[in-house]
Amino acid sequence: TRGFYIGRFQPYHNGHHNVVDTIAEEVDELVLGIGSAGDSHSRHDPFTAGERIMMITKSLVDYDLVTYAVPIEDLDRNSVWVSHVQSMSPDFDVAYSNNPLVIRLFEEAGVEVRQSPMFNRDVLEGTEVRDRMVEGGDWQRLVPDSVVEVIEEIDGIDRIQQVSDSDS
Ligand code: ATP
Ligand code: MG
Repeated sequence: TRGFYIGRFQPYHNGHHNVVDTIAEEVDELVLGIGSAGDSHSRHDPFTAGERIMMITKSLVDYDLVTYAVPIEDLDRNSVWVSHVQSMSPDFDVAYSNNPLVIRLFEEAGVEVRQSPMFNRDVLEGTEVRDRMVEGGDWQRLVPDSVVEVIEEIDGIDRIQQVSDSDS
């Protein structure tokens, strides 16, 4: 079976990584849909789709799981969003999500949806990781080592701090 898991992955953090761990026990292959793929260089969406592909690919390189990272640009038309996703992804049997809108859209389109447990959601949340990056806190602990390396390579902390500054 092939699964599908979508997120913005800004950045890919240990919460996402734990979700993939659980999914890996149920599927042979997994598509990771990189949502809002066109967005980058903002506090909310600092990293490009290509940079997020690097984070995911390097974090999962030792996994016994075939993975595909597929960029999904925003469509802003929920009624046809599942078709949009399917047009960009290898065919999949089951979608994993906890997001009520995403669950609704997949179910209306006849796609099986499974939910995964939340892991340490008080700190394992993209918003918390980005806040720590901007404020100089300990974000490294919240992401896989490979993600730390990618963010160093692209000078990502400098970027998110600079684009979070106001011009006044
Ligand atoms: P943001 O604060 O930027 O929204 P996020 O942590 O919610 O960050 P997303 O890219 O929106 O990250 O996450 C994709 C999916 O992964 C979401 O539907 C969310 O439910 C799930 N997810 C995120 N963090 C965790 C976690 N700690 N445990 C389980 N699932 C998680
Ligand atoms: Mg979220």
